[in-house]
Amino acid sequence: MIEVIESESRKLLGRLRDTLAEDTAGQERLDHITHLIADSMQAEVCSIYLFRDEQTLELCATEGLNADAVHKTRLKVGEGLVGRVARKKRIVNTIDAPSERGFRYMPETGEEIFSAFIGLPIQRLGETLGVLVVQSKERRCFTEDEVYALEVVAMVLAEMAELGAFVAEDSAIGALHTRPEMFKGTVAQEGVASGQVYLHEPRVVVTNPVTDDPVAETKRLIEAIDTLRVSVDDMLADVPQGDKDQREILEAYRMFANSRGWMRRMSEDIALGLSAEAAIEKEQSLARTRLEHSPDPYLRERLHDLDDLSNRLLRILTGQGENTGAEMPENPILVARNIGPAELLDYGKGKLKGIILEQGSVGSHAAIVARAWAIPLIVHAEGISTEALNGDPILLDGERGTAHLRPDETVQAAFKDKMAMHHKEQMRFADLVDEPALTLCGNEVKLHMNAGLMVDLPSLKTSGALGVGLFRTELQFLIRSSFPKRSELTSLYSRVMDAADGKRIVFRTLDIGSDKVLPYMAPQDEPNPAMGWRAIRVGLDKRGVMKMQLQSLIRAANGRDLSVMFPFVAQLEEYRAARKIFEGVLEQERKLGHVLPRHYEVGVMLETPSLAFAPDAFFEEADFISIGGNDLKQFFFAADRENERVRRRYDTLNVSYISFLKQIVDRCKLHDTSVSFCGEDAGKPLEAAVFAAIGFRALSMRPASIGPVKSLMRGVDLGALNEIIEKASREGKQSIREDLQSYLAQNEVAY
Ligand code: PEP
Ligand code: MG
Repeated sequence: MIEVIESESRKLLGRLRDTLAEDTAGQERLDHITHLIADSMQAEVCSIYLFRDEQTLELCATEGLNADAVHKTRLKVGEGLVGRVARKKRIVNTIDAPSERGFRYMPETGEEIFSAFIGLPIQRLGETLGVLVVQSKERRCFTEDEVYALEVVAMVLAEMAELGAFVAEDSAIGALHTRPEMFKGTVAQEGVASGQVYLHEPRVVVTNPVTDDPVAETKRLIEAIDTLRVSVDDMLADVPQGDKDQREILEAYRMFANSRGWMRRMSEDIALGLSAEAAIEKEQSLARTRLEHSPDPYLRERLHDLDDLSNRLLRILTGQGENTGAEMPENPILVARNIGPAELLDYGKGKLKGIILEQGSVGSHAAIVARAWAIPLIVHAEGISTEALNGDPILLDGERGTAHLRPDETVQAAFKDKMAMHHKEQMRFADLVDEPALTLCGNEVKLHMNAGLMVDLPSLKTSGALGVGLFRTELQFLIRSSFPKRSELTSLYSRVMDAADGKRIVFRTLDIGSDKVLPYMAPQDEPNPAMGWRAIRVGLDKRGVMKMQLQSLIRAANGRDLSVMFPFVAQLEEYRAARKIFEGVLEQERKLGHVLPRHYEVGVMLETPSLAFAPDAFFEEADFISIGGNDLKQFFFAADRENERVRRRYDTLNVSYISFLKQIVDRCKLHDTSVSFCGEDAGKPLEAAVFAAIGFRALSMRPASIGPVKSLMRGVDLGALNEIIEKASREGKQSIREDLQSYLAQNEVAY
């Protein structure tokens, strides 16, 4: 039986391929295909529905249904059985369609007389292009083998669609990758950019989805897998000793490359008539669909591995993809499903104009690199990496979080105005670089910048920052594949201090844990990592690492001033213990004959509410305090900063939160301890102005935020802002924002 199906299926695929070679128009080809499939399946009906837009499926060809319904019958995703296949990306196979839940009667097609129904998603690499339906009057259930054969057919249809085989004159079946598309994502770094798509992983184009020589095709696949195995073994041999994680990933690759199940499934697909490339893509598509539905992080990782491995295999077979010499277009805007910080850094500063990711997150390390480069970045732009082609024109609006792919003229014109305005604003900020952030009432607020990598340092000059208020030392650890040595750290910190040229840099000791997982440290399986074993908690438990870092800082200072700050301290005793370690290391260094810092200060990040209520001794003993608002706010409101659903739910200008911050500032003032704010909110002009009003005289932010914050600061009177805050509080308002906005509008202060 299987052999019969195999030869029948191969025959059908052979015919489908012949339709590709024919010089016919797209519609004619589709009509022919539905006829061929219905005939081969001995069914009365075969229909092909393709997406007209994101939400609408359109009947594009049919054998057996009313021909007048073609291009007229439309369904929303989720509507009827066809819509259900599209939404769930799963097969629906039923003996009695009309009695199925969700069945939608479409009189124009006359379909109620058909009983058996099978619908399959036409998908390529996880992206659904349409639905293939076969129906029959007879109450029959399509067998497993028939389903399998139809899956293969659907795969070939997807490849044909990708090749533009169904493009028709009337716009109902538009060419793929040609229409203007808008993608909505989440802003991870503001800014606007106009340029051309540059794909991080260029797509492989499969021009031969069908074969009539399965033996030769299987041989090609085996040879490619052999090459792949050798390359994985070579990569494994190159992994430095001790790089456990890299080794583990490659071991998983090797496991897949040797997986009999994987090989068997692909060989079966080839036996049914698919080419080696199409068989790989079919497996890859299935893996991507499973990936979307799997909540298990381990399984997701493995499916990612399989995806990557499939890409490598495709590249081996086709010679396309990476390193094909695809030229970087002018004004490249990088489009990727996801990217790691190291891969991103490989592109080099100043090359890319912007980045659009399908996955990623606002707090990801790639986002941190994009911020350091001050280029716009949007994440969660779903579907863009499969839709965009290298060189496509694209406009990136990092204010709204949108990307316009192949924009039409109206969008282009509107965007041009936006770019011009943005440019004008940048010029205005540039004029303020050497000016102080002096309020109308004569208070100066010192603006510092946040940094974490050597590439950030040049921004000290260009942004007008007075120093680095927060140097996140963990970034250097995160972008590496193995633990840095003390000498390497010393040299790095020394270069950072050289680049700062005497300006103050506050080095925060390692804040690992939570979302910042070092690739070479055993991951901790914690129920709630943001409140788990992170930052100073790791430092105090693993003193060797902390001491090594402190030693590197002291040696790098080499007689210069040194400011060190401990993250995530929750009680006085933790600060005392950390300070004691620092002083112990100093003493040891002295004994070893190293030059000690000329002057040092040991500060704390206040990012847990508990520390705001610490005993007075804490405020007396800490040399300085910096508020880590990102963490403090998430714990104040109990709203996860990484969770898109809740992270914007509570306003920073909420009256309770502002009064809480003011109490901290007042306690610091009482004990004459300097206090600054270094969370992301410090870089938002309105928030920064309110912070200044409640007493902050130092803020630290992304370099790109310094201009906008300074500009607003120079237009406000802190006394007036305080009145607004007090009034909002007296009136029991939830937030100060609205009153503040109307005050600024009335006084014509731009921000
Ligand atoms: C903060 O929590 O506000 C902060 C600056 O630290 P990070 O964002 O690195 O946790
Ligand atoms: Mg923090």
